[in-house]
Amino acid sequence: MSIIYKRPNELELMAAAGEILYKVHDLVQSAVAEGITTKQLNDIAENAILEFGARPAFLGYNGFPATINSSINDVIVHGIPSGQKLRNGDIISVDIGLHYKGWVADSARSYGVGNISPIAKKLLEVTDAALWAGIKAAQTGRRLGDVSWAVQKTVEQAGFSVVREFVGHGVGRKMHEEPQVPNWGQPGKGPVLKPGMTFALEPMVTVGRTEVVVLEDKWTAKTKDGSLSAQIEHTIAITEKGPRVLTLPKHVPWGPVHKSNF
Ligand code: MG
Ligand code: MG
Repeated sequence: MSIIYKRPNELELMAAAGEILYKVHDLVQSAVAEGITTKQLNDIAENAILEFGARPAFLGYNGFPATINSSINDVIVHGIPSGQKLRNGDIISVDIGLHYKGWVADSARSYGVGNISPIAKKLLEVTDAALWAGIKAAQTGRRLGDVSWAVQKTVEQAGFSVVREFVGHGVGRKMHEEPQVPNWGQPGKGPVLKPGMTFALEPMVTVGRTEVVVLEDKWTAKTKDGSLSAQIEHTIAITEKGPRVLTLPKHVPWGPVHKSNF
């Protein structure tokens, strides 16, 4: 396994990419409402990325046809933006990646539209909590399995499931670098975490079972049992002082989003 370590100046460039991505997500978030289409959300993100002097990372990646992944309700990941309108009670996960000055930032948020069910609300909260449990476990000297286990434990203690078909990943000049970062694992196993490692942590959580079906478009991945699914992601760096969240600007409070923001 060859993990690419980033120097401190390279982490600053990744953080600059991450700050742009944070602002792009904010613009998308402010537009999420009943009646808007996922194509409109895609265009908001794409225009913002270009205005910030960055470049979409997903558009054209392995042939993906859009700038964002827009994954509604039982879609886990890789939903393709379309004319589908958001409806009251939907949940939507929006995953965005961008290149800036040669470096990639990758993060995802999940939202409720209007009044969502208690179980949907719990799913969003648990997915967010699982991500942050993983981030907090990402300490120099611990192992990657500790991060994976922290995510899995948080999800399963809440009675939900982690998806096995898709995983987090190393990230840097390329969107997908080694190692894979599964959302399940064993504490004390896997590579030792060292300063300069950078990962995209991205719990994908379902209310029901973990089985996945991919639609004929070869992208849209849904839960086989039709249960709701959410995905929340940050790009992080391992540092001597603890994990650094590269897709959160320094002025933004660290930790799960307050539930009223869903
Ligand atoms: Mg992503
Ligand atoms: Mg990712």
